[in-house]
Amino acid sequence: MSRFLNEKYASLDAYTPGEQPRDKRYIKLNTNESPYPPAPQVVRALGEGEIADLRLYSDPTGKALREKIGAQFGLGMDNVILTNGSDDVLNFAFMAFSGDGVAFPDISYGFYSVFAQLHGVDAKIIPLKPDFSVDYRDYCGLNRMIVLANPNAPTGLAIPLEQIRQILITNDHHVVVIDEAYVDFGGQSAAALLGEFPNLLVSQTFSKSRSMAGARLGYGLGSRELIADLEKLRNSTNPYNINRLTMRLGEKTLDNLSYYEENCKKIVQTREFTRIELEKMGFSVLPGKGNFLFAAHPRLSGEDVYTKLKERGVLVRHFTAQRIQNYNRITIGTRQEMETMLRILREIEEGSL
Ligand SMILES: *Cc1c(COP(=O)(O)O)cnc(C)c1O
Repeated sequence: MSRFLNEKYASLDAYTPGEQPRDKRYIKLNTNESPYPPAPQVVRALGEGEIADLRLYSDPTGKALREKIGAQFGLGMDNVILTNGSDDVLNFAFMAFSGDGVAFPDISYGFYSVFAQLHGVDAKIIPLKPDFSVDYRDYCGLNRMIVLANPNAPTGLAIPLEQIRQILITNDHHVVVIDEAYVDFGGQSAAALLGEFPNLLVSQTFSKSRSMAGARLGYGLGSRELIADLEKLRNSTNPYNINRLTMRLGEKTLDNLSYYEENCKKIVQTREFTRIELEKMGFSVLPGKGNFLFAAHPRLSGEDVYTKLKERGVLVRHFTAQRIQNYNRITIGTRQEMETMLRILREIEEGSL
């Protein structure tokens, strides 16, 4: 740290992204990326013309892409904000709406507590139930902004829309942010409630189900007024936050949604296959609805499983928080990658008897 850093950032603990090692080729099951490439039409969407046009700024209003995203939900462009990954819409939401504080679960996406620190916001951290589920009653009438990932990460557990509705009704003076990074793998989208609740903000991303983590494209959906507030912050930070290439790829993606729906089906099937196989080995596996499973071995520690898998070329995500230290979050790859991972796990078990 230099002696020039503003004191308010001195004790900030930045978010630690999952590792992206370059030392060898791993089976990468640690950051919930898609095992499938973007649709062929997306892969072919950029040519010399688009590269040459990089001399021009991107459209700061993002009109074409916002209209296409909105149309999927029966919304207009004024109900959509485009951001550089959905992390960025979450950041803007904290900046804009957490004046009275924020509440989120103890086990959830690590960025929420980083944003709370970054913006100096009082955070009420609510423990999940012993089975790692969210009790929606803990979030009723809190008088502060609420952030819930649904499905949650790293547990994968989802809550029904009826419970989100109760949270929205009982917090009508505050914004409720529903982070739907994993909704396409089996959750129910709260976007269906947007017409009823002006305090609802839904965030979604192209990073997981749309195979575009490296392009950085996310968005928020909400009432015109909420989106106008967020647009004000976006335009005060970086009005060209979506680059021209990503904008184009985003549009092409939405023209080919059936390809991505097929991929999601395959991932869900592979998830259920993997769950059954892990359970046969004695793992306890949460009934997750994301493109990952959260699993604990009956004898080996979470750290042991993580380290031994890594030695053998398989990367999974281990967290050190005490409540979940015996678990690992395992991204669902291709069927073949999961069969390899399971074979290696059986070898690790045999070696440790
Ligand atoms: C991956 C993820 C995000 C955002 O990722 P972006 O790549 O920034 O869109 C947001 N929330 C959760 C819970 C995630 O797992």
